[in-house]
Amino acid sequence: MQSYDVVISGAGLAGCSAALTLARNGLRVALLDKARFPREKVCGDGVTAASSTILNDLGVMELLRQRSGAMMPFRGVTLFSPFGTVMSGRFSATGLQTDESYVISRSVLDECLVSRAREHDHIDFHEQTAVDRLIMDGRKAVGLSASSGEFYGRFVIGADGAYSPVAKNLKIVNHDKNHHAFAIRAYFSNVEGLTDSIELHYEKSMLPGYGWVFPAGTMRANVGVGLMTRFTDQRGLKRMFGRFIADNPLVAGRMKKAVMEPETLKAWPLPLGSFDAQRGRDNVLLAGDAGSFIDPVTGEGIYYALKSGRYAAEAIARAIDEKRDEQVLRHFETLWRSEFLRRIYSPGYAIQPFLANRFFLEGLLRYVSGKQHRANLMADVIGHNRKRSELYQLFNPFFSGAFRKLLRL
Ligand SMILES: Cc1cc2nc3c(=O)[nH]c(=O)nc-3n(C[C@H](O)[C@H](O)[C@H](O)COP(=O)(O)OP(=O)(O)OC[C@H]3O[C@@H](n4cnc5c(N)ncnc54)[C@H](O)[C@@H]3O)c2cc1C
Repeated sequence: MQSYDVVISGAGLAGCSAALTLARNGLRVALLDKARFPREKVCGDGVTAASSTILNDLGVMELLRQRSGAMMPFRGVTLFSPFGTVMSGRFSATGLQTDESYVISRSVLDECLVSRAREHDHIDFHEQTAVDRLIMDGRKAVGLSASSGEFYGRFVIGADGAYSPVAKNLKIVNHDKNHHAFAIRAYFSNVEGLTDSIELHYEKSMLPGYGWVFPAGTMRANVGVGLMTRFTDQRGLKRMFGRFIADNPLVAGRMKKAVMEPETLKAWPLPLGSFDAQRGRDNVLLAGDAGSFIDPVTGEGIYYALKSGRYAAEAIARAIDEKRDEQVLRHFETLWRSEFLRRIYSPGYAIQPFLANRFFLEGLLRYVSGKQHRANLMADVIGHNRKRSELYQLFNPFFSGAFRKLLRL
């Protein structure tokens, strides 16, 4: 029997971030993943500056820099409205973050995280180890049962993605179509007109979702579309993707000579953070997609996986420190809710109906594209380089201070 302080299902972003944070706190961790690394993960690969800051702290950026061509920096966001208005904003150097934004293939990014976990004495990493259920002693989880045996621990973290077996065991799965999206992507070579900005294309038929073109190398791009689950199923998504590549007037011309890399067209769910449920039960915590933490407006999940994994680890370290294990879920809920809920999820969910309205979106993008400083602010907010609440400055730069204080934003 193998016994640890914490057993983690899933060694993606959330699982590795949790494991490395726990190990730094001197705790012994079993980290289990069904895959063999490097492994593919369906993603747009857009890593915001907020995510790079955490990756830097975990020692991962250093590894990525050693791999030539692994990171494609981007320095702005270009938005295309349903009626053809174009807004090009550049990131400012004075935002929240000091690190840069990149497009990084997830097979490389996740492999670098895993290699940091592998080299840590306090982490036992088991790949090709599929978790199938929690081991219970009455109401309390005492470990995880997996394909290569049983792993016992005082706490368990489910960081095993959108189809999380741990979340299923706890019956905390986000099936609510209002808080759930689906996206599909493929890599293309020979794409023309790529710049050092990521592109988001708001097409009438996709709202409040969008299509994207992210520069992933010289004339290479990660191209995809993402939609709210209530508007589509997976088949609809593939059709939508085909139309985006072939018919969108701002994309089709640049994709004429493009070649899709074989077997890269894949879809995957996005469980959105607006889903209102506790992220765990008793001594089991859910992090990353397993806990439904993705930004409901932008679809950014990398930052929220890294950060929720870290919060899960901090909650556990604190409960152990205080010798009050039963407080762990309360600590975790306090941590993630204080950063994500009021600032990202609630306003995000409130904005969604407006983003579904093509006329509203058109008006907004025309207004924002009218002045470069407005476009830069919008780019900074989408690029997670400024707080969402700073968008108030778009309408009145003098309005922000007192009003934001009043709303405690
Ligand atoms: C098409 C698409 C595009 C996206 N684009 C972006 C983007 O550009 N930027 C962004 O920030 N976010 C993006 N996201 C969201 C982002 O990909 C996720 O939020 C993020 O990967 C979540 O990380 P995670 O660690 O929670 O889960 P994952 O990365 O899914 O990791 C889960 C891990 O658990 C393992 N696992 C699963 N089942 C088991 C099991 N039974 N036993 C053991 N291990 C198991 C898996 O092998 C995997 O390694 C996108 C999502 C999609 C679908």
